[in-house]
Amino acid sequence: MQGATDTIFAVASGAGQAAVTVLRLSGPASGGLLDQLCHRRPAPRAATVRTLRAADGEVLDRALVLWLPGPGSYTGEDSAELHLHGGRAVLDGVTDALVEGGARPAEPGEFTRRAFLHGRMDLLEAEAVADLVSAETAAQRQQALRQLGGALGSLYRGWTERLTRLVAQQEALIDFPDEDLPPETEAATLRDMAAIRGEITAHLNDGRRGERLREGLVIAVTGPPNVGKSTLINALAGREVAIVSPHAGTTRDVLEARIVLGGVPVTLLDTAGLRETADPIEAEGVRRARARAAAADFLIVVRDSNDVAEVARPDGAGMLTVANKADLGVDPGDAQIVVSALTGAGMSALRERLAGEARRLADAAGPPAGTCTRHRAGLADAASWLGHAEAAGLPELRGEALRVALRGIGRVTGRVGTEDVLDAVFSQFCIGK
Ligand code: GDP
Repeated sequence: MQGATDTIFAVASGAGQAAVTVLRLSGPASGGLLDQLCHRRPAPRAATVRTLRAADGEVLDRALVLWLPGPGSYTGEDSAELHLHGGRAVLDGVTDALVEGGARPAEPGEFTRRAFLHGRMDLLEAEAVADLVSAETAAQRQQALRQLGGALGSLYRGWTERLTRLVAQQEALIDFPDEDLPPETEAATLRDMAAIRGEITAHLNDGRRGERLREGLVIAVTGPPNVGKSTLINALAGREVAIVSPHAGTTRDVLEARIVLGGVPVTLLDTAGLRETADPIEAEGVRRARARAAAADFLIVVRDSNDVAEVARPDGAGMLTVANKADLGVDPGDAQIVVSALTGAGMSALRERLAGEARRLADAAGPPAGTCTRHRAGLADAASWLGHAEAAGLPELRGEALRVALRGIGRVTGRVGTEDVLDAVFSQFCIGK
C-alpha cells in the first residue's frame, strides 16, 4: 500500500454517466484542498453549494460540498465529499485540480482500510462493508448489516475477554507459585477453557451457514437423461438457460442458472444425463456432472418414472426427489414433490419448498455466523490451542497455549494484524470504498 498519510480521492458513486458523481476525499490535506477548490470551506457536516475552481480560477462546477473533519468521519481522518455534476469533463477537471493540490487516486478499499487503521471499525466490520456493497439479495444484506453492526465482533470479543482473564490467571500462578490456591480454581479454569472451546466449535459447526449465504448456494439438478431436468431449470429460472432436447443425453456439459430462492442467491447446476455411455464426450459430461453434484449444497433428483437412478448424495447435503411430467400421469412413487415443468403444475410448491431449504441452509436470522474461510481458519486454530491448554499441566505451558489461541481470534477481528492479511482483505474491495 502507498503512503497512509497521503490524501486520497476516488469516485464513490457508480461507473458510467450519471446525474451526480460523488467524489470522496480523505487525508490531512482534505481541508486545504477544499479551501483551494471552493475558496471557503463549508461548516462541518453541512451540505453546502459552492462554485469549484481550478488553481487558475477557471470554474469547474457548482457542486454540493461536505466538509467532514476527523476523527468523527468514516475514515477517522479529515474528509470531504463533492457531489459533482455527472459529466466526464467535470470529473476530469476536479480530479486534475486535486492531483495538482497533492492528492492521489485511492486504491481499492483504501478508505475502509484507513477506517480500520484509525480504529473506526474492526476487520469484521470492514469486511461487512464490502459484503454490503456487493449484496444482491435481502438475506445477504441482512447478514452484512448485522456484521457491520458488530454482531460477529462482539461474539469474538467476548471469547477474547474470557481468554485474556484465563491468561492473567495463569500468569498469577507463575508469579506466585507458593500461594495456596483453593482446589476449585483449577477445576473452574478447566471448565472455562472447555466452555469457550465448546462455543467456538459449535460456532464452526454451523454448516457454513454464513459462507453459503455470502457466496450463494449450489443446487445440482440430477437424474437420468430426458426426465426434464433442463426444462425444470428453465421453469425455475424463468428463462432459457439449459438446452432442452427430446434426444437423451443432449445436455453434455454442466449449465448454470443464477436465481434467488428465499433471499438466498442460488446457482442451479444442470448436470448431463447420468448414464453410463461409451461415447467419450458424453462420458466426460457424466464425470463432470458427478463432480459438481458431489460438491453441491443441495440435490434435486428428477425422475419421470419409478426407476430412479441411484445418486450419490454429497456429505451432509440435503436432497429432494421430484417426479416430473405430471401432465403425462407419471407415477410419483416415493417422490417428495410432483410437478410438470412443461405446464407449470406444482412449480410454485417446488419453489416454496426450495426457498425453505435455502433459508435453512443459509439462515441469516440465526445466531451470527462466520462468513468466510478466513474466519474459520483463525477460530479453528483458537479451538485447537484451547485443547492444548486444557491438556497442559504447567501454568507456563497453559498460559502460552492460551496466548496462541487468543492470537487466532485476534487475526479474525484484526487485533493481531499482519500486512498480508490486511492486503488480502482490502484488495477485494472496489475503489471508492
Ligand atoms: P433432461 O435431459 O433431463 O434435461 O430433459 P429435458 O429437459 O431436455 O427434457 C426432455 C424432454 O422431455 C423434452 O422433450 C421436454 O420438452 C420434455 N419434458 C420436460 N418436462 C416435461 C413435462 O413436465 N411434461 C412433458 N409432457 N414433457 C416434458
